Amino acid sequence: MSSTALRMSTMFLRTLREDPADADVDSAKLLIRAGYIRKAAPGIWTWLPLGLRVLNKIETIIREEMDGIGAQEVHFPALLPREPYEKTHRWEEYGENLFRLKDRHEADYLLAPTHEEMFTLLVKDMYSSYKDLPVVLYQIQTKYRDEFRPRAGLIRGREFVMKDAYSFNIDEEGMRKAYYDERGAYERVFQRIGLKYVPVFAMSGPMGGSASEEFLAPMPIGEDTFALAPSGKAWNVEALHTPELPEVDCSATPAASKRPTPDAKTIDGMIALANAKYPREDGREWQASDTLKNVIIAVKHVEDEEHDSPWREIVAIGVPGDRQVDMKRLEAQFAPFEIEEATPEDLKTYPELVHGYIGPMVLGPQREAAGLKKPLRYLLDAHVVKGSAWFTGADENEVDYYDLVYGRDFEADGTVEAVEVRHGDMSPDGSGPLSFERGVEIGQVFQLGLKYSKALDLKVLDQNGKTVPVWMGCYGIGVSRVLACVAETHHDERGLAWPAVIAPAQVHVVATGKDQAAFDAAEKLVEELESRGVEVIYDDRKKVSPGVKFKDAELIGVPLIAVAGRDTVNNGTIEIRNRDGSDSAAVPAAEAADVLEARLKTLLGE
Ligand code: ATP
Ligand code: MG
Repeated sequence: MSSTALRMSTMFLRTLREDPADADVDSAKLLIRAGYIRKAAPGIWTWLPLGLRVLNKIETIIREEMDGIGAQEVHFPALLPREPYEKTHRWEEYGENLFRLKDRHEADYLLAPTHEEMFTLLVKDMYSSYKDLPVVLYQIQTKYRDEFRPRAGLIRGREFVMKDAYSFNIDEEGMRKAYYDERGAYERVFQRIGLKYVPVFAMSGPMGGSASEEFLAPMPIGEDTFALAPSGKAWNVEALHTPELPEVDCSATPAASKRPTPDAKTIDGMIALANAKYPREDGREWQASDTLKNVIIAVKHVEDEEHDSPWREIVAIGVPGDRQVDMKRLEAQFAPFEIEEATPEDLKTYPELVHGYIGPMVLGPQREAAGLKKPLRYLLDAHVVKGSAWFTGADENEVDYYDLVYGRDFEADGTVEAVEVRHGDMSPDGSGPLSFERGVEIGQVFQLGLKYSKALDLKVLDQNGKTVPVWMGCYGIGVSRVLACVAETHHDERGLAWPAVIAPAQVHVVATGKDQAAFDAAEKLVEELESRGVEVIYDDRKKVSPGVKFKDAELIGVPLIAVAGRDTVNNGTIEIRNRDGSDSAAVPAAEAADVLEARLKTLLGE
């Protein structure tokens, strides 16, 4: 008995010839047109039988790899109380992305965007000793985020399926091992699914850049940009650190001098004036890269030991004038705090800062000598090296300094990554110039350290009977997003073209014409394939033209197509071809199942 679930005559399916008007990327257009998903609301999707089959296959691969590293599956509710998220400040910090709601008793609830709090509390609830550890838990579950702009179909949804895993270890070393286990499982998952991925360093922390990595699937519609080194290593822009640049010998640099520079508040103005009025002795032109631009920012700290309410720290940042400040990169340096440009109110509290002429001599360590008491931290971008001479503000209206040397004439309180990264900049690993690519984040692995265990008081007794917080990691895969990314990277103008491992079925059998003999031959092939464990979509529709059937088969995108029609009736052959159009062959009907099975093995890499 063959199954009837995947017969086109009864399957719950309606394919569309036209692209849906509001679908913005190929994967969304094709998944809707081929009958995998339907839109329920912006960023919220209904799964149809075909879509669900692919999703389940991806989930199975993820489960196998999670179970393979010893992770245990659990399942949390999506509807959660406010309290745990209050304790970690995320009830507020998540901002407008969090779906908040009230129950009938006016108690606050949320639809979980991610589950760190709940996993932490569950382990706290059940475990109390180092003997209980290590443990890794995971779930595959529906998440909710009220994304500002849901887009690209399943790629940025407001309801989506995520695999999230959490590791719990007694020490940091254990956490690192759990991280690398999970990372390894991710590589196997994406390799098995057939999705190209790049692990991208997401944070340049004290742990050598391995505290977090994002797995990006490279594709032009991606919203994330990553920088790629010739070595194959990749960083997101916030995590890039400038390789250490050599100090400059300043023994021949003239003494610093103050010069009048009227009407030269902008970098361009400074350069034009310098070249006209103060040409250099060696004939080199003044350039924007000779100027040191000092920008004032505010760091928005939360309350701490010295401040009982949130407070603003004003900080001066010195950057070469030929590079723009990259506020996102700069902000990453002050994480978890946000930053913004200093407001006129902020600047009023430092009246010595002369607009357009701010220079190092009133910033950071220089302030005391300038007779200023109130501190103002001064940080230099990593491109400003010791011994380099600068043309910069002299903290007087219409006056600039020339030949002001870092390390000779002024110092700073530290170094930061403040400026934009450019195509061609040297990569952090020194392997050559960086280039930029776009990608979609399909997963992330994260060493959380003690953040959540401290916030939620997850402690256990160690070997010496001492209470210690638990080292945690968290690891996410966007399951529904992965499905869309495969569709986005595996299709042509005629439709989807799934890798065999996750295709909704493996063979699409089409019976054409009016002759019952063709349908009988097709039916026999379907039964033979199913008895061998091959999954088949069978287009058994009567009164549907061959052209429509072929179009549907190519739209749906099953990797192998077999056609029984006139040739079957006349010559006893069945036509077999791969979805990508390759290797079309007419084979005797009795051999069709063997040929298809052999091709399938090749496609599955068996
Ligand atoms: P993004 O930067 O794309 O918004 P994120 O870093 O906020 O993602 P995580 O909190 O790391 O996302 O969630 C784990 C995984 O869940 C992500 O790597 C991604 O694959 C997936 N994901 C996140 N947001 C969405 C969404 N709105 N729709 C579908 N999948 C998502
Ligand atoms: Mg992420």
